[in-house]
Amino acid sequence: MAVVQERELLCKDWLKTPKKLLIDGKWVDAQGGKTFETRNPADDEVLARVAEGSKEDADKAVKAARKAYEEGPWRKMAPAERARLLYKLADELEKRADEFAQLETLDNGKPIKESRWVDLPQAVETFRYYAGWCTKLEGETINVNSNFFTYTLREPVGVVAQIIPWNFPLLMAAWKLGPALACGNTLVLKPAEQTPLTALRLGELICEVGFPPGVVNIVTGFGPDAAGEALSKHMDVDKVAFTGEDKTGRLIVQASTGNLKRVSLELGGKAPNIVFADADIDAAVKGAITGIFFNQGQVCCAGSRLFLEKSIHDEFMTKLTDRVSKMRQGPGLDEKTQIGPQVSREQVERIMGYVQAGQKEGAKLVCGGERPQGDLAKGYFVKPTIFDGVNNNMKIAQEEIFGPVLSVLPFSSMEEVAEQANKVIFGLSGAVWTRDIKKAHKLAAHIKAGTVWINCFNVFDPQVPFGGYKMSGYGRELGKHSIELYTNVKSVWVNVAE
Ligand code: NAP
Ligand code: MG
Repeated sequence: MAVVQERELLCKDWLKTPKKLLIDGKWVDAQGGKTFETRNPADDEVLARVAEGSKEDADKAVKAARKAYEEGPWRKMAPAERARLLYKLADELEKRADEFAQLETLDNGKPIKESRWVDLPQAVETFRYYAGWCTKLEGETINVNSNFFTYTLREPVGVVAQIIPWNFPLLMAAWKLGPALACGNTLVLKPAEQTPLTALRLGELICEVGFPPGVVNIVTGFGPDAAGEALSKHMDVDKVAFTGEDKTGRLIVQASTGNLKRVSLELGGKAPNIVFADADIDAAVKGAITGIFFNQGQVCCAGSRLFLEKSIHDEFMTKLTDRVSKMRQGPGLDEKTQIGPQVSREQVERIMGYVQAGQKEGAKLVCGGERPQGDLAKGYFVKPTIFDGVNNNMKIAQEEIFGPVLSVLPFSSMEEVAEQANKVIFGLSGAVWTRDIKKAHKLAAHIKAGTVWINCFNVFDPQVPFGGYKMSGYGRELGKHSIELYTNVKSVWVNVAE
């Protein structure tokens, strides 16, 4: 907070207000008045205390969502009216974009430029995009034979639990809420314990714009043996949508078996970012940096395995390390910051463990690999780190680090890189840099991942589906594909025989 003057902090007063649970349109304390703290990753100071939702609170929220689904005005509301509420929410969010961006940066640590120019506009556009879908949901008529008039209805799934992580707190909430609400579901959102603030502020806007009580419930708190687990187990939740670690994804699936609720999962990744000698090298260098250092590497689709064709290896590494060494690391609120702190101390320890593993396995540490000292020592900072000479079997090439650690893997042929690219348990994304369109499209088809970028990286739009192959999860979010996640199809047969 030292960098931005207190008077410029638009969320300053809001931070002082109590942070409660949103259940049935009311802000309520957690059972027994329990709270937990959320900290500023830039300086380890407590930002706010937040209600710690228990299993019982999760149950109350599900009951409110059920009531709103079965009885409330929500189901009877015209789709155009639902659209109007979503558009209004997008507008209100846009009006307060600066305040939300600061709040996101304070809670998560990410550079303010990223919150302001990525998270906020993407969240706003996601709500707008799904507002448009409200009035486009349609069934179909099917000509079976002249004895029957047969049609399908596209109906909401019902009560949905949405459990999200800390890396894009507001944006993940938008990806979840937008389509679920457009389709007419009611829901309970469980933000990550590290970053509950923007979801709570969003909850206030949801109440202000006039969503009926119980349609959106927000239960902050913990996952294991707490609100998160209770939601995924709950017998009256019809669907759970989860984004987070693959290990947690497995627990969610197991917990879902009680009532066989529908599940969609967005999990981790270990994306291959492949650069051929015929690529635009300067563009690829920038792409490699965005690929791994955007959001401090805490991105599920991060380009954490950089495959470099051997003939350009030295030139590429010189350009890459030159740029990376000049990256400005600092508190997220500083406008000049290009790389902020990690979200938590726990993440820092995890990342430093991987740095040690890389060194032990014989990878060559080219830069970073340590924590900055001086002013930044209080915060959860890790210097941008690059390992060269990595072998695809090493731990740092196989496991998701979720931090600013790049593994560079030199390769000699298209066949070799094609094989190595898919040799991981994950399949969320990948990228290819080349001027040869044949090579680009061949690899795009070959890479087992839900997204492949050609001569670009980390490009997103609410219209374009996103999700995983293999252990990166199942189901596709964004685009029309989210509509599948949040609707049921019903066939209706009408006997019209003479
Ligand atoms: P996480 O530990 O899996 O947490 C994600 C959410 O699940 C949090 O809200 C968490 O609550 C909750 N949770 C934890 N255990 C639970 C349980 N047993 N039952 C129900 N809910 C539970 O993941 P994270 O550490 O926050 O985030 C990092 C991971 O997320 C990375 O592996 C990354 O790849 C993945 N990720 C994937 C995508 C994608 O789109 N595919 C996007 C972002 C992140 P707590 O607050 O208590 O932790
Ligand atoms: Mg966690």
